[in-house]
Amino acid sequence: MSFAALESDFYGYADLLTDRERDALADLRAWLEADVKPIIGGYWERAEFPMQVVRPLADLGVLSFAWEETRPFENSSVFRGFVALELARVDASVGTFVGVQNGLATGSLAVAGSREQRDEWIPKLASGEVVGAFGLTEPLSGSDSARGLRTTARREGDEWVLNGEKRWIGNATFSDITIIWAKDEADGQVKGFIVPTSTPGYAATKIEGKISLRPVQNADIVLTDVRVPESLRLQHADSFRATAEVLRATRAEVAWAAVGTAVGAYEAAVAYAKDRVQFGRPIASHQLIQDHLVNALGNITASLGMVVRASQLQDAGTLRDEHSALAKAFATARMRETVGWAREVCGGNGIVLDHHVARFFADSEALYSYEGTREMNTLIVGRAITGQAAFV
Ligand code: FAD
Repeated sequence: MSFAALESDFYGYADLLTDRERDALADLRAWLEADVKPIIGGYWERAEFPMQVVRPLADLGVLSFAWEETRPFENSSVFRGFVALELARVDASVGTFVGVQNGLATGSLAVAGSREQRDEWIPKLASGEVVGAFGLTEPLSGSDSARGLRTTARREGDEWVLNGEKRWIGNATFSDITIIWAKDEADGQVKGFIVPTSTPGYAATKIEGKISLRPVQNADIVLTDVRVPESLRLQHADSFRATAEVLRATRAEVAWAAVGTAVGAYEAAVAYAKDRVQFGRPIASHQLIQDHLVNALGNITASLGMVVRASQLQDAGTLRDEHSALAKAFATARMRETVGWAREVCGGNGIVLDHHVARFFADSEALYSYEGTREMNTLIVGRAITGQAAFV
C-alpha cells in the first residue's frame, strides 16, 4: 500500500522518511482507518479498551519499534514519531496504550534492564503476549515524583518487599507486569522493579468517571508487602536518573501524539466545513471558518517542525530533557487550542462522538497533563535557560 503524505503535513515533513518507513506507515494508517476508526466511539462511550487491537498492533510491528533488537527494520526516531502521530490521528487512547506498552514499559527495560531482563521480557512485550504498565505516579506525588515518592522497597536477602500506592497507571487493570518505581529504604534512591501483577499483595482498581481517554484503563494500585526477587529489580536503575531517561524519550513521543490529536481534529473539521451548508453556502466558504482552519494548520505545522527536530536530536544522541520538555509543553498547548477551534467549526455536532471531533477535544486534556504538565515542562526549560530552578 502506498503512503500519501497527509494534507495537514503542509511542509512535507514526511519526505524525511525512507520508503520502508512510508510503507509501514501506510499499512498502519489503512488498519487504523478500517478497523479502529469505525468502532472506537462506542468503546470511548463505554469506557472499555478494545483488546482486539493488541494483536494487529504487534503484527504491524508497532510494539517492536522501541528497541533496536526487536525492530523489524532499521528506523529513525522521526519514523517512530510519525507512528505516534498516525495512532493519535485516529485515536489517542490506542496511541496511549502503545505509548505505555512500548515507550514506558519496554522503554524502562531497554534503558535500565540487564541483558537477561531485556531478553526475557522485551520480545514478549513486542509480540503483545505480555502487556506492560509503568507505575510512577502516586496519590500524593504527581509532579514531584523525582523527590516525593512514598512507595518503599526494602531488601530482605534475595528479595525486595514493596509497599505503597500508585495512581493513574495506564493499562494496569489488565497488565501482566507493571514497572514499579519505589524508594529504597536503605539509600533513599528510586529503583525500578518488574512486578508480575499476579504477585500476592498487588491490587489494581480501575479509575472510573474519566472524561478523557475513556478507553484507557487507568488504575489505582495498592502494594501490600509485595515480594519480588532481586532478579526482577531493574539492574541499571540506581536512581531517578534512569526514570528520567525513560521519560525524556516518551515525552517527545507524547508531543508527537499531541500533533496527531490536533491533526485528527483539524481534518475532521475541514471535512465538516466543506460539507455543512449554512446561509446557502458551505461553511468552509466563510472567512471566519477559514481563519480557524488556517490557525489550526499553523499550530500543527509549527509543532511538527519542533517534534521532527527533537527526534533528529534523539537519533544524534543530543536530545536533552529541556528539548523534550519544550516540545511536550508547546505541542500540547497548541493541540489544546487547535481541538477547541475544530470543535467550534463543527458547532453542536462538535460535541457528539459521531463526528470524532468531540473525542479529540476531550482526549486532548489527558495528553496535556500526563508525562509532565505544561507547568512542569515549562519549569524544566526555565531552569535550562536561566540556570535557576523554580520548582518550589
Ligand atoms: P499535580 O502534581 O498534583 O499538579 C496539579 C497542578 O499543579 C498541575 O497543574 C501542575 O502543573 C501544578 N503544579 C504542581 N507543582 C507545581 C509547581 N512547582 N509550580 C507550578 N505548578 C505546579 N502516571 C504513571 O506513572 N503511569 C501512567 O501510566 C500514567 N498514565 C496517566 C494517564 C492519564 C490519563 C493521566 C491523567 C495521568 C497519567 N499518569 C500516569 C499520571 C500523570 O503523569 C500525572 O497526572 C501528572 O504527572 C501530573 O501529576 P498530578 O496529576 O498528580 O498533578
